Amino acid sequence: MAIMEERKVVIVGSGPAGYTAAIYAARANLKPLLFEGFHSGPAGGQLMTTTDVENFPGFPEGILGPMMMESFKKQAQRFDTTVLTEDVVSVDLSSHPFIVKGTKTEVKADAIIVATGATAKRLDIVGAGDGEYWQKGVTACAICDGAAPIFRNKHLYVIGGGDSAVEEAVFLTKYASKVFIVHRRDELRASKIMAERAMKHPKIEILWNQVIDKIEGNEIVDKVTIKNVQTGKTEVREAGGVFFAIGHKPNTDFLMGQLDTNEHGYLVVKPGTSYTNVEGAFAAGDVQDFTYRQAVTAAGSGCMAALDAERWLQEKGLI
Ligand code: NAP
Repeated sequence: MAIMEERKVVIVGSGPAGYTAAIYAARANLKPLLFEGFHSGPAGGQLMTTTDVENFPGFPEGILGPMMMESFKKQAQRFDTTVLTEDVVSVDLSSHPFIVKGTKTEVKADAIIVATGATAKRLDIVGAGDGEYWQKGVTACAICDGAAPIFRNKHLYVIGGGDSAVEEAVFLTKYASKVFIVHRRDELRASKIMAERAMKHPKIEILWNQVIDKIEGNEIVDKVTIKNVQTGKTEVREAGGVFFAIGHKPNTDFLMGQLDTNEHGYLVVKPGTSYTNVEGAFAAGDVQDFTYRQAVTAAGSGCMAALDAERWLQEKGLI
């Protein structure tokens, strides 16, 4: 393992939060080092698996997610950010400077910014695994994948009962002939306004107290087995796709409990700041946000983390 020189600021994560933190830290002459890893899929974060981003201000015509992340990266590198393409496997925050271990590189850091995002949860259903129908009709992001031709004019199934499930179901009505929300209970968790939207939508039907037991197909998904959890009765239905919308898991495993988390596993920051419970460790983006979870809010919190880190380094006489 190559030990590199100590860095003032190490950023873990390469989504909008990580790169915005890098841009600000680099422009403050802190020569940040950023790990772009594969915590939640491709380097670049969740926007890498999105098509058009139409709600990031400044792009009136929209921009493709991967293109946007490429621009974030270029901007960070233009101001002297070192980007290492490897996952961080562990960090030691118990002494200072911190030790950040990547798969190939070990770095000493005065300050660390954790911006590793969150990953959409998957269910262990027969047929849904890698090597089965995962990404062949089964996905965890309708907004990213729903426009694919395989889903056009098909019966699509969204699993979940929260705001995401409703939002994704409504989105899929643009392409599907019919969208079924499969929910394990008899009441949605989604907010009232969203729940109403689903219930009133002519193309959406909610399958209450049901779960998907099995996914089958040929090259791609073509049927699902639905089970009523109250009666145990099963039914095979035609299906063009299955979308998990059962929440996200923040990517914090590599921290091994060294930073405080809330009951959902998200990092806890001092309200209105990016300060965590460990001095010199800051958090930004979806890994600490289960409310907004937007590219623009992630970018904003990345800026906050860089400014907080810079001020903290100044206070400690480290710069
Ligand atoms: P969520 O609110 O945690 O809902 C997850 C849903 O998945 C729940 O209905 C849950 O069922 C179901 N679920 C969980 N595990 C399951 C399992 N093993 N099998 C079957 N179903 C399972 O997650 P979310 O919908 O992603 O929302 C997360 C946060 O983002 C919320 O605060 C939400 O308000 C917010 N959000 C807001 C918007 C918006 O306002 N436009 C859009 C998306 C998300 P139970 O209900 O039975 O627990």
